[in-house]
Amino acid sequence: MARRILDTAFWDDTDVAKLDYPERLLLICMITDESLSNDYGWLPAHPALLKKHAFGYDSCSVAEVETWRDTILETCKNVKLYSMNGQEYIDLVKFPEWQKLRYQRKTHLPPPPWYGEEALAASEAEREEHLKADRASGLIYREAHKEEIHIRQRAYRQTPKGKELERRQNHRRLAREAGVPATLTQTEWQASLDFFGNCCAYCGDSDVSLSQEHIVPLSAGGGYVAENVVPACSRCNESKHKKPLEDWLVEPASTFVLKNAGERIKEYLLVVAETSRNSAETSRLTVTIAPSGLSRDGLSSEGKDTASAPRPRASSGKNAIRKALEEHFVRTTKLPRPPMATASQKRAAGRRWWAPLTRMAELTDWNLTQGIRLIDEARKRLEGLTVSAPESLLKTAEGIIGDWARGKSHGRDSPQLSATELAAMQEEYTHD
Ligand SMILES: [Zn+2]
Repeated sequence: MARRILDTAFWDDTDVAKLDYPERLLLICMITDESLSNDYGWLPAHPALLKKHAFGYDSCSVAEVETWRDTILETCKNVKLYSMNGQEYIDLVKFPEWQKLRYQRKTHLPPPPWYGEEALAASEAEREEHLKADRASGLIYREAHKEEIHIRQRAYRQTPKGKELERRQNHRRLAREAGVPATLTQTEWQASLDFFGNCCAYCGDSDVSLSQEHIVPLSAGGGYVAENVVPACSRCNESKHKKPLEDWLVEPASTFVLKNAGERIKEYLLVVAETSRNSAETSRLTVTIAPSGLSRDGLSSEGKDTASAPRPRASSGKNAIRKALEEHFVRTTKLPRPPMATASQKRAAGRRWWAPLTRMAELTDWNLTQGIRLIDEARKRLEGLTVSAPESLLKTAEGIIGDWARGKSHGRDSPQLSATELAAMQEEYTHD
């Protein structure tokens, strides 16, 4: 698109000459600010919005901006006010003369009543024409540079990112062909890797390349979904092949598998079930693979009695909040989770990782939104320094809480969030 420029004819306009300088500045903003006026020269007329765009750095009031706007409307015959559906808009009548655009992009603003329907239809037809031409030239380009594009794509497929993409596409295609769901995202796969500490889910080997293993094979109806995909080494992958998990685990041929492999996979499924929105699907799969004779603890008797999926762990609100904070921390710092294969590793990880995040949740009275905000704030203050674990954030976080508690005014730092802010943050968090 053409860049918005101010036609020098603007200064020759005698109406413009009558304006005072804040009014002239406001008019210039209306014409040149692409995020304010559309390609037809229509814009919302609300003074608060105009103030935000034109006088973001100034201390003028909205009422002042409204006065300037009204002066422009009175003085300039080429700037007209119109209202539609109870909202006021401005039409910069001469805009198409000032701005030489190849075509006018779609707009969600209603046209002024004096703008003819034929004009709108003509502009739409012109846009379609241009888009068609653009698409055609794209085709011509791709045809002419076929070899070049091919080489570039081949090179991309050799990169780790490209390989990852190819693998996902293959898995998805196979799942589609098998008629099973394929919804595994990169984040979910990373969560699976994190859960098993970047080790094979079956034998616990760490120095091996891990592939995505379907617990229930595609051919047996297992999907390419978070609750059915775990990391596995090639040895385990080949040994298990298409056998049902419970059969394979007790086979003499699979002695290299960890004794608690079944338990850990069950644990993993519970975690997925807790986070999964599609819990119905999860429990179905959990039933399929829950090994009946394998469990050594209460889980098996419970499973047998009810003949249903293991009940999701009674997760208290606090537990969920701490977990959400962990998720947020891992995502924003991109730090790998510590390995948790053995009891001592679990203890160490607990001290280094989960305990500080629990403490942070306590500090914010188990308020998830504020906890997330605290993590972000502390991380920002530590920028440039190494964040090795949540504990390094804890000290900073405590300092921030201290500031808050002492009522130090940090502008937006206050722990008291407005309802809108809170909603926005929750929205942001849940949609990520
Ligand atoms: Zn393995």
